[in-house]
Amino acid sequence: MDCLFCKIIDGEIPSTKIYEDEYVYCFKDIAPIAPIHYLIIPKVHISGADQINGENSVMTAKVFEAAAKIAKSEGIESYRIINNCGDDAGQTVKHLHFHFLAGVKMGWGPESLGITK
Ligand code: AMP
Ligand code: ZN
Repeated sequence: MDCLFCKIIDGEIPSTKIYEDEYVYCFKDIAPIAPIHYLIIPKVHISGADQINGENSVMTAKVFEAAAKIAKSEGIESYRIINNCGDDAGQTVKHLHFHFLAGVKMGWGPESLGITK
């Protein structure tokens, strides 16, 4: 399948691995927007959060389980997990992924989410 993140999971495209288990893969975002910016993805191809269903929703639980493990192992006490679903929300890669952001004090509100009107 012509999917960038499937290729990263297969090792066809290089990445900086942070964590991996049977279900998920975590690697550094190539264009970090915070001191710590990882992407956590299920190993099965799901094109976006709008494709989560009763058959595959356990993968999302595995992503959050991995996030908690990663945070614990790196001593990260505070983090934000973001999913962009669809073009208006800013999804550029059509393989379900969760941004794991940490290492900085984060704001909350329309500006910090890129909502301009
Ligand atoms: P989104 O805009 O939510 O679809 O997020 C896609 C993310 O993938 C962006 O933050 C990109 O910087 C990141 N990205 C794109 N290509 C790569 C790559 N080859 N390795 C690591 N991260 C990537
Ligand atoms: Zn994929």
